[in-house]
Amino acid sequence: MPNPNKTTYQSYIGGEWVNSSSGETYETFNPAHTSNVVGTFQSCTVEDAEAAIAAGKVAGVGWASTPAPQRGAVLLKVLGILERRGEELAQAITVEEGKPIIDARGEIKRAMNIIEYSAGEGRRMFGYTTPSELPDTVAYTIRRPMGVVAIITPWNFPVAIPAWKIAPALICGNAVIFKPASATPLAATLLTEVFEEAGLPPGVLNLITGSGSSVGNALVESPDISAISFTGSTEIGTRLYARGASLLKKVQAEMGGKNAAIIMNDADLDKAVGGVVQGAFGSTGQRCTATSRVIVQDGIYGDFMKELVERTSALTVGDGIDEANDVAPLSSQNQLDTVMEYIGSGTEQGARLVIGGHRLEDGEFADGYYVEPTIFEDVPLDSRIAQEEIFGPVLTVFKAKDVKEAVDISNSVEFGLSSSIYTKDLTVAHQYINTVETGMVHVNAPTLGGEVHLPFGGLKSSGVGAREQGVEMVDFFTEPITVYIDHAAEAKERARFI
Ligand code: NAP
Repeated sequence: MPNPNKTTYQSYIGGEWVNSSSGETYETFNPAHTSNVVGTFQSCTVEDAEAAIAAGKVAGVGWASTPAPQRGAVLLKVLGILERRGEELAQAITVEEGKPIIDARGEIKRAMNIIEYSAGEGRRMFGYTTPSELPDTVAYTIRRPMGVVAIITPWNFPVAIPAWKIAPALICGNAVIFKPASATPLAATLLTEVFEEAGLPPGVLNLITGSGSSVGNALVESPDISAISFTGSTEIGTRLYARGASLLKKVQAEMGGKNAAIIMNDADLDKAVGGVVQGAFGSTGQRCTATSRVIVQDGIYGDFMKELVERTSALTVGDGIDEANDVAPLSSQNQLDTVMEYIGSGTEQGARLVIGGHRLEDGEFADGYYVEPTIFEDVPLDSRIAQEEIFGPVLTVFKAKDVKEAVDISNSVEFGLSSSIYTKDLTVAHQYINTVETGMVHVNAPTLGGEVHLPFGGLKSSGVGAREQGVEMVDFFTEPITVYIDHAAEAKERARFI
């Protein structure tokens, strides 16, 4: 087994746990107790990235020719190991990223679901047959792996997002170079260990930890990487997509969000408030599908706000490892600074602070990145907190007179990841479903999450390229090859087309 000394972790290249070629390392710290070192990790170099790609190229040949059901069998072993090691990984997520342990366990479950679904895909991987216009000819398609693919992931779902890229890539027969966020290398390392333990052949999955601007960029630039699956900020994703396209690579980029929930006058108040509190403050608001805005019809506004403030005030803030806590620390100093800057800009730009708005620094909070759950109302539509992704426990509230105005507000941002509406009126619900500009739409449910057998992704600045998960996942990680077979006994004149 790798990593005999568990405080210093290594990268995984060609089936070996190795140090960075430069010998340089970096440390990560627990966001709930910033003096606690989580571990020491390799600062991989461009040379390490090249070594990983070379290993992937060699190993990918054998993996691509392994029958897909056998590849699926390896993924089922991964699933079995996660049953056993899931709690270890969940605790690693909380210690490293900060999120409440219950959310971390949910993340592991989500990872297991996609691994299970991907394993089953090994027995489908459908092409299609269709009649040929030529006599004595059979026409059909097969799927071929892309080759060596790069998986570049963010810190906020350090196991689930890598899993929902790695498992589909592997079942489709690709070799993978996995570049996790610099902030969450422990979760990435443990996940890689699980794949190794399941018997994945050496070199098929390679882990390189280190900075995006060096090793991440090296993956994008490499002529041997044929596809890049990226999740992260819109800023980096936009640049990466443009560069990848200019190099004629296949790229999918899932990016930021500014998700809104709409509450209509006829909404079930209890359900609506519960969904918004969970959506806004669950995982400390550090979810791409978090509820960042709520748009409330004027007739229910007063009742909704009263209940919202009451339930938000009852949330307990503290170390995520304690199951009693609902809201945990932000995951880094950078996140803390960004969120506090947004809170400051809210007041400066004319919004009214209803609750929260402060950093918590005393007593048990002294050593962590804690911010109170925060709500603003009377938010100017053109203000930064109305338009930009905050990525923290901050909710902005708007008022609308009808569903048309509510959808207009929902659509008034550059993002289009997820959204929701609470109403009992099917006509209103369908008007909303057909006009809201988001890739995922929920009715009477929070803006959060999704199921692995359905496509996941956003519109506008939230996503570009093929959708992740669902049947669409296979489209991204394979090339369709079109086959024509002439089985006539004798030569004959053929039509001369293209
Ligand atoms: P980020 O800063 O864009 O980083 C994402 C990944 O890209 C990291 O692994 C990062 O490495 C790497 N990277 C940075 N610069 C790069 C470069 N020049 N070339 C190649 N790779 C590079 O995003 P983040 O702060 O980790 O994640 C938060 C964002 O992710 C939020 O905007 C959130 O909404 C979004 N997100 C979206 C979804 C979705 O499905 N739509 C899901 C989750 C999160 P380093 O860590 O080393 O910088």
